[in-house]
Amino acid sequence: MDKQDWIADDLKYVWHPFTQMKQYEGDEKPICIVKGEGIYIEDIEGNRYMDSVSSWWVNSLGHAQPRLAKALYEQACAIEQVIFAGFTHKPAISLAKKLITLVNNRLKHVFYSDNGSTAIEVALKMAYQYWQLKGKASKKKFIAFENAYHGDTLGAVSVGGIDMYHKVYRPLLFDIIREKSPYCYRCPCGKEKEHCRLECLQGVEEILKARHDEIAAVIIEPLIQAAGGMIMYKAEYLTKLRELCDAYQVLLIDDEVAMGFYRTGKLYAYEHAGIVPDIVCSAKALTAGFLPLAVTLCTDELYYAFYDEDKDGLKTFYHGHSFTANPLACAVANENLAILQEMNMEEYLKPKILAFKRGLEKFRDYPHVGDIRQWGMVSAVEIVKDKRTKECFAYEEQIGKKIYSAGLRRGVLLRPMWNCMYFMPPYVITEEEIDSLLRLAYDSMREVLG
Ligand SMILES: *Cc1c(COP(=O)(O)O)cnc(C)c1O
Repeated sequence: MDKQDWIADDLKYVWHPFTQMKQYEGDEKPICIVKGEGIYIEDIEGNRYMDSVSSWWVNSLGHAQPRLAKALYEQACAIEQVIFAGFTHKPAISLAKKLITLVNNRLKHVFYSDNGSTAIEVALKMAYQYWQLKGKASKKKFIAFENAYHGDTLGAVSVGGIDMYHKVYRPLLFDIIREKSPYCYRCPCGKEKEHCRLECLQGVEEILKARHDEIAAVIIEPLIQAAGGMIMYKAEYLTKLRELCDAYQVLLIDDEVAMGFYRTGKLYAYEHAGIVPDIVCSAKALTAGFLPLAVTLCTDELYYAFYDEDKDGLKTFYHGHSFTANPLACAVANENLAILQEMNMEEYLKPKILAFKRGLEKFRDYPHVGDIRQWGMVSAVEIVKDKRTKECFAYEEQIGKKIYSAGLRRGVLLRPMWNCMYFMPPYVITEEEIDSLLRLAYDSMREVLG
């Protein structure tokens, strides 16, 4: 089969995620990838693309990383999958132990699942049932934020706050309390950064004060609302949110699915705020992007609320997936953690984070760049039609799509969200590659915007 046949079959049989399939009636077709190495992926004709989005934020150590491939193969030769109720296995045990060590024993237990969305479902059910078991049955509601993204299953969509993705499903969802997005560039309280006193948290404080008896938990993406457009906020916001949750006896669920495993420069983003959440969800880079695997970490307090003789069967946590704690994925995650430790990741990333900071400066004077923001290995450029009024380009102008195409022609995979062009490459990107990524992105943007 040659390229044309592959693409024809793809379009005949496959329905792609987050994709309007009719777009492929045009000239641009899905790109058929056959291999990858480091930060590059290579298509069936030998064209290479710099993977500046870590293949949807999952890849951290580069593609086809040999040590991870070897760990996967060796585990597959031993045991590939086994039921995880009544049975257990070494990869899951050692991974859980390491994950708990890495959070300094502040969280104590690991619940496995398959992906970010399931990690969130687990967290929501756990938090909800916790209060039922503690005799505070009225605490049923969740606080979540505008522009939040927590995954695509219906529980996760319920706490999601991106209308474009979530609105159509609202009638299917449970009711939550929605609070303001901490969108510093477009401050919901009309403040300038220098004068910010975290006014955007006042609404949360008021609702907690008035209704804490009804509220089970607050769920938040730490430091960056990623899918909402790489919306970034200060670490102090999380610190204050933790204080509020403590004051009003509400659980804090920290969705580290995208930011965990050093995206922001530290193992978990919450570390920047000097806090410990009650529940932490992690997936994506947990396996360095090799295999789907997720964990939901929780405290002793939560765990022991479920721990009982079980005379009536009511204290069991009824949740599990066919592939819970898949040994292959756990083995890869273990090897990933070993590599991260050997590379001394926090130090390893520092010069790269600086290289982005330096390189982004050249975007600053461009007339359509409204904001430049960065947290660790995530950086973003918000494109506006009018810098002074912060007016956006209309959806119909398809700025993001055009930049995507312009990037592909230059051999770089950029995938702007709305008007937000962002960079979130595998950590193994070199400083030179960072410079060339930013140059290619700049040129792509200029080609589209003039
Ligand atoms: C990607 C993402 C999820 C969902 O993870 P999936 O593995 O795609 O289900 C949840 N939360 C955040 C913050 C994410 O970025």
